[in-house]
Amino acid sequence: MTQRIFDTKTRTLRDFEPLREGSVSIYLCGATPQAKPHIGHLRSGVAFDIVRRWFAAKGFDVAFVRNVTDIDDKILTKAAEHGRPWWEWVSTYEREFTRAYDTLGVLPPSVEPRATGHVTQMVDYMQRLIDAGFAYAADGSVYFDVDAWVRAGGDYGSISGNRVEDMEQGETDNRGKRGARDFALWKAAKPGEPSWPTPWGDGRPGWHLECSAMSTWYLGESFDIHGGGLDLQFPHHENEQAQSHAAGDGFAQYWMHNHWVTMAGEKMSKSLGNVLSIDNMLEEVRPVELRYYLGSAHYRSVLEYSPEALREAAAGYRRIEDFVRKAGTPKPTTWTEGFQQALDDDFAVPKALAEIHNAVREGNKHPERAAEIAGQVRAMAAVLGVDPGEWGSAAESQTGTNAALAVLVEAELERRTTARAEKDWATADEVRDRLAAAGIEVTDTADGPTWEIKE
Ligand SMILES: [Zn+2]
Repeated sequence: MTQRIFDTKTRTLRDFEPLREGSVSIYLCGATPQAKPHIGHLRSGVAFDIVRRWFAAKGFDVAFVRNVTDIDDKILTKAAEHGRPWWEWVSTYEREFTRAYDTLGVLPPSVEPRATGHVTQMVDYMQRLIDAGFAYAADGSVYFDVDAWVRAGGDYGSISGNRVEDMEQGETDNRGKRGARDFALWKAAKPGEPSWPTPWGDGRPGWHLECSAMSTWYLGESFDIHGGGLDLQFPHHENEQAQSHAAGDGFAQYWMHNHWVTMAGEKMSKSLGNVLSIDNMLEEVRPVELRYYLGSAHYRSVLEYSPEALREAAAGYRRIEDFVRKAGTPKPTTWTEGFQQALDDDFAVPKALAEIHNAVREGNKHPERAAEIAGQVRAMAAVLGVDPGEWGSAAESQTGTNAALAVLVEAELERRTTARAEKDWATADEVRDRLAAAGIEVTDTADGPTWEIKE
């Protein structure tokens, strides 16, 4: 079956044809670490982790590059505000991102290049662009000449869908710029800021250039898939593509963009980011449950955060987990036809999850087939990074009072389930009432009881 991908650039579903048979090369724009990560950051990580796992599961050799933008205005400003060296500031938060990725089971990239380690490649790129007549040096900075590229027939605007005349770069330092739409490839050194030498003067990398330089350095002048959050379409990805095409590179063959996380209809902002930091979320649910939640919506849909939605997702994961554990956690086997169809169709995770939950219901209905079905369920869940056999049990991932509470409540619920099966309604009600009196609310679902502590 053919993999189909919604390509942002053509705005169509396209059959995926890799540049090299059996291989897939993916470049994902990673973090600019200047604060702790929130769930908006990790959604992109999880979405593309599923893409990567699916290709790998189908036997592709996957090269996955995710960069770190380790030099940037925001990093310099924040570090200065706090009186800390910029390199310490960015390293601290880079570790926070790594910890969050690891906690949520996002596989480490094949390589994780940092901008400051690739100045040589950027200088080379700028030289090629200057030689081709699409870049110029001015006042120690180097700019990309958008108008020259458009005059030469460049496809500027093809990713964002914006008209050339409507686009503004939003750059604050425009010294020496010839055209209002030109953007910085390289920023001239300012007093007190870190800088690196180039033939055009000391300075530091422009954001867009680093991704063109690093993606082609690791993946070649043409590679298969470029990914990132929707907000990167313009100016970042538009400018990356302009640089690379103007330098004569084929660059990305497919463009994928994940939608963002909102709360009450509002896009993740700094203040929301504090509320929805990974650490805060993990006080509510287990890491695997948070991962399940972040991956559960289609990557091109908005994920609207609410505590209820998070709890529902956690309960959804626990239904899969309960089934697999009760079936004795057999070895993973293979996915169903429906699961494959779902993921081959532009990574339709909601349909893939429906397939998993159908299998769980089927297995709960037919205990004699539970082990066989649980093997399938594990194989499917693994593609989404939520195989219960790979993650610890609820009791294992909790400590102290929480773990003890979970063991006791689960034991009570099992007693209630047995009582109900024997039509011993008095005992069943007694268990429920006793839990309710302790503030523990039991909900009966088609797949068995779930519980939570009422606030
Ligand atoms: Zn990028």
